Parts: sequence; structure tokens; C-alpha cells
Amino acid sequence: MTRFATRQRVVFFEEPVASNDGVRLHTKTCPRSGVVVATPALPDGLAAEERNASLRRMLDQLLAASGVRHSVLWFYTPMMFAFASDIERTTVVYDCMDELSHFRFAPPELPALESALMRRADVVFTGGYSLFEARQDRHDNIHPFPSSVDTAHFAAARTLRDEPADQAAIPRPRLGFFGVIDERMDCDLVAHLAASHPEWHVVMIGPVVKIDPATLPRARNVHYLGAKSYDQLPAYLAGWNAALMPFAINEATRFISPTKTLEYLAGGRVVVSTPVRDVVRHYDKMSAVQIASTRDGFIEACGAALRIAKTPALWMDEVDTLLERVSWKATFDRMAALLDSAVARNKPKAVAEAVRSSRIALPALRLDRRYKPAEILVVGAGFAGSVMAERLAARSGKRVLVVDRRPHIAGNAYDARDASGVLFHKYGPHIFHTNAAEIFSYLSGFTRWRPYEHRVLARVAGMDLPMPINRTTINRLYGLALSSDDEAAAFLADRVEPVPHIRTSEDVVVSKVGRDLFERFFQGYTRKQWGMDASELDKSVAARVPARTNTDDRYFTDAFQFMPRDGYSRLFENMLDHPLIDVQVDTEYRDVIRETVFDHVVFTGPVDEYFDFRFGKLPYRSLQFRHVTLDQTQFQPVGTVNYPDEEVPYTRVTEYKHLTGQMHDKTTLTYEYPAAEGDPYYPVPRPENQALFKRYEALARAETDVTFVGRLATYRYYNMDQVVGQALSAFKTLSRKWSGSVRDTLGATVMTAGE
Ligand code: FAD
Ligand code: UDP
Repeated sequence: MTRFATRQRVVFFEEPVASNDGVRLHTKTCPRSGVVVATPALPDGLAAEERNASLRRMLDQLLAASGVRHSVLWFYTPMMFAFASDIERTTVVYDCMDELSHFRFAPPELPALESALMRRADVVFTGGYSLFEARQDRHDNIHPFPSSVDTAHFAAARTLRDEPADQAAIPRPRLGFFGVIDERMDCDLVAHLAASHPEWHVVMIGPVVKIDPATLPRARNVHYLGAKSYDQLPAYLAGWNAALMPFAINEATRFISPTKTLEYLAGGRVVVSTPVRDVVRHYDKMSAVQIASTRDGFIEACGAALRIAKTPALWMDEVDTLLERVSWKATFDRMAALLDSAVARNKPKAVAEAVRSSRIALPALRLDRRYKPAEILVVGAGFAGSVMAERLAARSGKRVLVVDRRPHIAGNAYDARDASGVLFHKYGPHIFHTNAAEIFSYLSGFTRWRPYEHRVLARVAGMDLPMPINRTTINRLYGLALSSDDEAAAFLADRVEPVPHIRTSEDVVVSKVGRDLFERFFQGYTRKQWGMDASELDKSVAARVPARTNTDDRYFTDAFQFMPRDGYSRLFENMLDHPLIDVQVDTEYRDVIRETVFDHVVFTGPVDEYFDFRFGKLPYRSLQFRHVTLDQTQFQPVGTVNYPDEEVPYTRVTEYKHLTGQMHDKTTLTYEYPAAEGDPYYPVPRPENQALFKRYEALARAETDVTFVGRLATYRYYNMDQVVGQALSAFKTLSRKWSGSVRDTLGATVMTAGE
């Protein structure tokens, strides 16, 4: 909240409470954050219209008092939309935290109000992936936000010793629950659990809501301690042997994404849960989370949890690795970026107007120039060129012509359906991953997403083993049973070769995992991929692939791992769909520039080619792709299988359906065969190539009317997100330069007029 609190005034308009005293608005201001909590109080029995009119008057008062011209209305429930749907000059956020219509006593008008709110909302957040999947077709700018956790707050439970008085007397072992106790609780399950193990004690913390307390399971070993404050929770958690999520599996729990899972884990507790969809999705493979779908299974799982809890060394690292990846700060940054762009999108008219008015005087100053169909030429319709074109048109109001020599847009990220209708990537598999919230958020303006975490196996010694190398890889390859990070780290420490100065890709790997693993997983693959030995390649190449001592088998660990839901080509179509952008494919840069003059060129092709190879060719590595469609639904268990063996002519095989989630009777694969000749795909990171690039870069810097962006033009082995980031910052630099020169030019015009 800090950022909003300093930038803006935050008012939390609560759901109304009953009043004996007519219509009232109670407000409290938090002395630390400045957040105002406004609680409307209404007499019982008001007709819906009267009630909504009163609430609207109060909201208007609050908005008027805040004095802002443009407000953000953030809805946690569609019920509030009934009286706030027509407020002007506002950006609307719908924070959809649950499938509220499935809750007991849900008002009948809720679904209709939600549809109206969805239509009006500028951005929608959902409380988890299941909810996101259920809603994503209903909004263009919708984003999943699974719960995060205040790790430091709950981790206190790992060391706290002082027991709260009402828990101290309860015997152990204790199985605890905290949260709202309502119709989502499987009361029969709790009763059964208590009856089957009278020596276990079930501690229930939380308010009882919507259900009759008399219907709750009562037994000598079930203890209801009532609601506790957030601050008190770690002290209770500290005294439990395991933590429970005994949710009923029904409509009301289909879309829940319980925050308490991470809170329990942060507190160092083993968790036992029923198979809530998002719990299975995120935690199924963790030793510290036991999931059981039957009553007896749940009880067995509680027994297992109590045993597992005694050996935290075996599972706590895995928990901590997970916790390192989640934070409210990351959630906040991502939401703030999405909100900022939603607000910015609500004001484009004003921006475009300002840009137009600032350009009024320009034609008079440029009489020497021929008429131009566009002011800017962008060469290349890949990520670099398309991001530049979009920004230049949408933000600077420039007329842009984008050309590409290929017969399509999207550059190397181009995807299409093959003859069988399976979506495939023409230039090899492209998996989107980034840690940069602003890049993810920018691209979210042009696509909806599908959560996808890439997994890779490497065919080594006749086995398919997780790549990057992790503890499972080591255990399976060498027939070991290393059970902790420490043991795996010790295993590797015995094998690594000390390298005083890490320079090459070979150095990076042998110093991390030793020679045997290097030879098995890296040596052959690298020789094939690059046509040279790892000892001749810069360290940055193999450093892209980490080595792990845990069992995380994801290829990437970035905060955002998603595939564009409708494919990359669609994302590019949306990006380039702007009235100021024209696109011509099958078009060579040289042919266009011969005919037409532009104010500025953005060049995203190979930099050496731009300068007619004046200093010689920059080396690029190429690939041949063999796309194969098979008459079977699945070929391999994960997205990509790597083949480091030098005898196998290809490096990897990718099966797209894993990436795209497409359901189809057939499946399409791509085999990658490295090649010296062909399209330039990979700049080759070696010191002498970098030195040659520097000479071209010096020429590029001297071209003041040309901006060089992208993998080929800046000769960098960049991923898609890095290219997007590079283009966004190149645009900022350019527009700063122009805003200076536009001001100067206008100043000059005024002087001329005065003379
Ligand atoms: P490009 O996409 O190459 O676009 C440049 C465009 O310029 C091309 O379409 C070209 O035709 C055009 N052009 C060049 N010269 C001219 C000219 N003279 N006239 C007209 N047009 C011209 N990144 C990831 O993040 N995740 C991945 O999983 C991933 N996998 C990859 C797999 C492979 C096999 C390859 C090769 C790359 C992969 N990448 C991946 C990297 C990704 O492809 C690049 O980061 C990104 O596509 C670079 O965008 P760009 O716009 O700089 O270049
Ligand atoms: N690499 C390897 N074996 C593998 C995977 C990667 O030797 O199984 C090395 C190889 O040199 C490769 C580099 O690590 O070129 C980077 O791999 P990455 O998967 O990032 O390559 P990309 O997807 O960019 O082709």
C-alpha cells in the first residue's frame, strides 16, 4: 500500500453495516498509511433503490472530498458496482477473489452485476489460476494473482516458544486450522478425524460465519478458540504439529486459492489438505503438503504429516525455495504496473491531442523534404521492431511503416497452425519468461496468457533426466539417494574442478558440477549447437543453464512464465493494429529506402549487413528446423527433450502441445539441426566477435537518424523479454531526444514569426 498511500489518497469503502441511527458514514484514518476506512451504516429494511442511492451519495461525497480528477475504483465485490457503475473519469479494477455466486446466501443479482462490472472494468485480477481460467474468456485484460505470503511474519512460528494461554492446555499432537469457518469446511471430515484418533487434538481458529455453530463437530479433542488477530496467528501456528485445510470439495471451493497454504508453510508446518484444485496445482509434488481425497486418506495423510513434521531437514529447503519465489512486493509491483498502464490507456486521447498540437509547426520547417507516406521506417517485424512501432504510434503519434523481408510478422517468434491444425513455432520453440513486471505488463496489453512452466529432459545414458541438472538428475544418473540440498552440494563439491578465472562455457560448468556431468550434458550439445568446443565459447552461453541441488525441475525460475494464449502471431497482430501503423511483409529494407525518405529509421536486422559487411561478416549460428506431425496425441512427457549425444544429429525435440495446451488428436514436433549457414539466429559470444561488433557499433552510433535495436542489430544473445526491454528503453531515449528537439523547433518558429 505504501506506494498508493504516498502517491494517492486511498479510501476503503466498506460493505454497509446495520444502523439504528439513520444513514451514517463513519470514517477512520490510519495514522501510519493515511488510508481512510469509510463504513456506511444503513437502517435495516431499506428498499434496494433507496439503499443504493444512499451509498452513491456517500461515495460521491468521498470522491469530491478527495479532490482528484481521475480516480481508480477498485471493486472486491460486484455488489458495490450496483451504485457506482456510471462514475466518470475513473479507471475500474475488478479484483475477483472468489466465485462469490457459489457462496451460501449469495444475492441473486450477483452474476448480472458481475457481468456488468466485467464489461466496464479496465483491468481484472483473479485470486488464483483456477479462477483466472474460468474467467479469462470474459475480459481482455485479466491477470491471475495467486496468494503470496508475508514470510517473515509467519516464519516467526518456527522459533516462537511462548504459547497463548488458551492453547497451552491443549495436549499434543495438535492439528490446527485458521481461517473463516463457514460452509466451505468439511465438518463431517473434521468429526471423522477427531473420532478416529482421540489422541490427536484439532485446534480451530477463526470466526464461525453463515453456518449454525451448533452444527459444528463437537468432541473432547476438537477445540474452538474463536477469531484471533493476524498478529496472533504465528504464536498459535507455532504450537501445532501439522496444519489442516479440511475443505469440502464442492462448488464453493472450486475456485479458492487458500492463502493459508503459504502461511502454514512459512510457519514451518506440514500441511494436510483435501484436493482443492489450486492446492493440487501448486503444491502436489511437495513433501510438506499432503493431499488426500477420501476421508480415510485424509486421516492417513494426517498421520504421515505428523511423522514428516519430525524431520524438517528433509523438506524445509524445498519449502524455503518456494517461499523465496513469492512475495507481496512482487505481487504489488505487478499489480501497480498493470494499474498504471490501465490508467494510461484511459487517457490516450489527451496524450494524442498534445502530441498533435506540438507538431503543428513542423511541416513549415521541413520544406526541403519530399512528402513521406510515413515519418518512421521500422525494419523488421519481430519483437524489437514491433514494440518500437507500437510505442512510436501509440505514444508519440508518429506514422510508422514496418517492413519485413519474411512473408509474415512476428520475426523468430512467428507461430501458425500446420496442415493438421496444430499450432507450432516456425523458428523453433519460444517460451516466454521474465522477471520484469513492467515487460510482462506491457505485453499483457496485447495478449491474454496461459500459465506455462517449461520442463526439459536430457537423454543421457539411456535415461531421460531433468535438465537443468538437479538432485533428481544426480540421484538417477548415479543411483544415489541424496535427500537434501546439503548432500547434493557436498556431492558436487567433491567433483568440481577449481577454475581460478572463469572465462569460457566449459569453465562455468566444470567449476559448478565437475567434468563427468559436463561431458555428459554439455560437451556434445555445445559442440553440435555452436560448431565449436565449450572451451572456445564465452561463459555467458552455458551460464544460461543453472545447476541445482534441490529438485526443482523447471527450466526457468522467472517470476512470470506464460505463453500468449492465442499464440505469438496474434500478439503481434494486436500490437501492430494501430491506425498510424502500416505493415509490408516480403519487403527489403534497401528497396524501400531507395524510393522514400523518412525522418528516422529503426533497424532490427543484422548490423553488419546494414553496413555492407564493411569490416567482414559477424558470425551467426544457424539452425535447420524439421517439423513433424504424428498421428498420436502425445510423443514425449515434457515440452522439450535434449540430446547432448554427439552421435545424434539434432540438439533437441520440442512438442508444442505442452507449451500451447492445445487439445488435438495429432501432435507436432520440431527437431533442431544446428548449421553454419542459413538465417542468422544466434550471435556467437566470443571475444573476437565482440571486438568486431564494437567496430560496427561505432558506425551505428554515428548514424543519428537510425536506431539499432534487437538481437541482430545489437549482436546480443537476448531472450524475447530482453529484446522487449531494450526496445522500450530505446523508445524512451528517442522520445526524450525528440521532445527536446520539438520544443527547440517550436521556439525557433515563434522567433521567425516575430521577425
Ligand atoms: P527477430 O525476431 O529476428 O526479428 C528481426 C526481423 O527483421 C526478422 O523477421 C527479419 O526477417 C527482419 N529483417 C532483417 N533484415 C531485414 C531487411 N534487410 N529487410 C527487411 N527485414 C529484415 N527467446 C525467449 O525468450 N524464449 C525462448 O524460448 C526462445 N527460444 C528461441 C529459440 C530459437 C531457435 C531462436 C533462434 C531464438 C529463441 N529465442 C527465445 C530468442 C528470440 O527469438 C529473440 O530474442 C527475438 O525473437 C528477437 O527479436 P528481434 O526482433 O530482435 O529479432
Ligand atoms: N546446453 C547444453 N546442454 C543442454 C542445454 C544447454 O550444453 O542440455 C548449453 C548449450 O551450449 C546451449 C546453452 O547451454 O547453447 C544455452 O542453452 P539454452 O537452452 O538457453 O539455449 P537456447 O534455448 O537459447 O537455444
